[in-house]
Amino acid sequence: MKKHVNFHFWPYCKFKCKYCFLKFEYVKRPLSKKDCMSILLALWEFGAEKINFVGGEPTLCPFLGELIAYAKNLGFTTSIVSNGTVITPSFLRKYGKNIDWIGLSLDSGNEETQKALGRGNGNYVQKTINKSLMIKKSGIKLKINTVITRLNVNEDMSAVINKIAPDRWKVFQMLIIKGQNDNEAKNLTISSSEFKNFTKRYADFNPIAENNDAMVDSYIMIDPLGRFFQNSGGTYSYSMPILQVGVFNAFDQITFNHDKFIKRGGIYSF
Ligand code: SF4
Repeated sequence: MKKHVNFHFWPYCKFKCKYCFLKFEYVKRPLSKKDCMSILLALWEFGAEKINFVGGEPTLCPFLGELIAYAKNLGFTTSIVSNGTVITPSFLRKYGKNIDWIGLSLDSGNEETQKALGRGNGNYVQKTINKSLMIKKSGIKLKINTVITRLNVNEDMSAVINKIAPDRWKVFQMLIIKGQNDNEAKNLTISSSEFKNFTKRYADFNPIAENNDAMVDSYIMIDPLGRFFQNSGGTYSYSMPILQVGVFNAFDQITFNHDKFIKRGGIYSF
């Protein structure tokens, strides 16, 4: 069984995206660097092959670079998903050699739409284009993640996607998770058929599309307290902490559907 893990080790973020479904407001103190490294080692021994450092916003963590280097040294394929905050030339110079993929979040080519969604203050799109080109120039593979909501479902994003030309473009039907975004995002939902029409319009770009059903039980995720957690259809369930009960026992406490992981395009060349 292929095991690719989203490690949400850092709970904090400066943005306020209305649809954010990973707020981690319950976290009083996130994992220490040492605990993160112990979890990475446990995951490697568990047979995980790819580690995706996510948040919150992972680049705000002062020890992210050390974690990436540690993971790479163990043998992982490494990846970050970021809103680009601290993706700078010096960050890439210092840590780029240990990073295989960087995913940037971009929901629109229109600054006003992006701002209305809660991301940035009107200069997010241009910054993301600049950072995308910088990432590609450094030889790291680039992924763009786009969440489809009421505000961008009818937008023509061709120009911005053409300009960035990512190695992989992922589009997600906005997901509602109880207790996370069910208040703020309830007016932004779109139907499965609207989502399907969006992806059809962009067939030439070959986007990897995930509707709400594809996201259920198809990810292996760890929260900032070091627990596996799962979207089991509109709400999260959690395991005991990995460092308390061991990675195998903790993994047995959540559901994971490997077939759905494969079906949603979870395996791709690195
Ligand atoms: S940038 Fe990501 S983590 Fe931060 S608020 Fe937006 S969706 Fe949530």
